[in-house]
Amino acid sequence: MAFEVTDDEQPSWTNWVGNQSCNPARIVPCATEDAVVAAVREARREGLGARTAGSGHSFTPIVGTDGILLDTSGLKGVVSIDPDACLATAKAHTTIGEFGDPLWEAGLAFKNQGDIDTQAIAGAVATSTHGSGPDLGSYSAELKACRLVDGRGEVRVLSADADPEIFGAVQCSLGLLGIMTELTVEVAPAYNIHEKIVFMPVEEMLERWDDLLAQYRHFSFFWMPTDRSSELFGFAPAKADQCMVKLYRETAEAPGSRPLPPNERIDRSYRIYPHVFEPNFHELEYFVPADDARAVFEEHRHLMLSSLPDSVFPMEVRFVAADEAWMSPNYQRPSIVISVSGEPGTDYWPYLRKCDAQLYERGARPHWGKLHFMTAERLAERFPKYQAFKDVRAEFDPDGMFLNPHLAEMFE
Ligand SMILES: Cc1cc2nc3c(=O)[nH]c(=O)nc-3n(C[C@H](O)[C@H](O)[C@H](O)COP(=O)(O)OP(=O)(O)OC[C@H]3O[C@@H](n4cnc5c(N)ncnc54)[C@H](O)[C@@H]3O)c2cc1C
Repeated sequence: MAFEVTDDEQPSWTNWVGNQSCNPARIVPCATEDAVVAAVREARREGLGARTAGSGHSFTPIVGTDGILLDTSGLKGVVSIDPDACLATAKAHTTIGEFGDPLWEAGLAFKNQGDIDTQAIAGAVATSTHGSGPDLGSYSAELKACRLVDGRGEVRVLSADADPEIFGAVQCSLGLLGIMTELTVEVAPAYNIHEKIVFMPVEEMLERWDDLLAQYRHFSFFWMPTDRSSELFGFAPAKADQCMVKLYRETAEAPGSRPLPPNERIDRSYRIYPHVFEPNFHELEYFVPADDARAVFEEHRHLMLSSLPDSVFPMEVRFVAADEAWMSPNYQRPSIVISVSGEPGTDYWPYLRKCDAQLYERGARPHWGKLHFMTAERLAERFPKYQAFKDVRAEFDPDGMFLNPHLAEMFE
């Protein structure tokens, strides 16, 4: 992600992968909550929009504004940890990775993590970022309280306990209710993970699917449509139609306590989860009811092999538990998560459109940070609390200053 001011004094912002950018009227550094309040009030006075970015890891135009872009990257650091209650409070721009050591020292860890740990906690919560595990929810599910500057420039202190009637809107807000300055999330007692990375033909993976899902804390896989797919994500070489399967178990064994084969590791949970990706893909990710999981995967693999020659990146398959965040793709519904990617520099839209058509038929909801084809009509059909969320949004932000064109199409 980059903030820039060019020679002609035109500020600009670009996301991590480079497919989204904007030219805000101003970029305002906001390293304190008071600064956020002042910037939001300034934008309101001038009739400008206001947005903020986390680490810029969303592929969608969910951040951009031509108004004031608040640079909240200075709002950083774990503020407090309550080991008895398993709660951690941090400033909004603290990255997932930056929680690792302080939580561990307090005997705690995130219950789950996704494929990278560079997202800001506020960005991860605002888009229901998730890892894999049928019993494990997204970051939105773990949000218990937050401080947020609303569209009037007022600080609201919100919590699941004190505000149960609207907290579901706050838990996955896409930045539409205001700028979060501090978040409290529920965490778990610290745990080590025993990781096994296994390559297997798709037939074997399908045969073992139920067992692997039942036996491991985390079972997820990348299916390779071509011989070169594996290397595109920096994995060990694999042939077409093979799967790179990730199998994680909690273990009482300490790291380094015994020699392990090269495809296995034991380490602290937060050291196992993150992978490092090149910014060489533009991803779409849809959540489909978990009941049909295997059929959904098989159908999608068939589609990619039979009629989508643009399928070069691996298809990632994960599982997420249901949650209560109104705009979360997992709202009151456990999911199988299917991710596919287009190749930057090519016209991948027809390919993604075909993936969308098939998955939408199966009941898909989108990942807000990944490419999607949602419209207001589709959201009304797919999210039972869509109208309720829009009502809360209008109350928190009466002037619509947190709506940008992408979000206005769906949420105005
Ligand atoms: C390589 C890569 C790997 C990924 N892996 C996963 C994965 O494993 N699982 C998964 O679910 N997703 C994954 N994602 C998607 C990513 O987690 C989400 O897009 C997430 O939102 C990015 O967080 P961010 O901090 O970069 O937020 P941004 O993309 O910068 O912003 C996302 C949203 O959060 C809002 N926001 C940010 N800060 C605040 C704040 N202080 N107050 C209010 N709103 C705020 C922004 O306005 C925006 O609406 C991945 C993305 C990439 C590029």
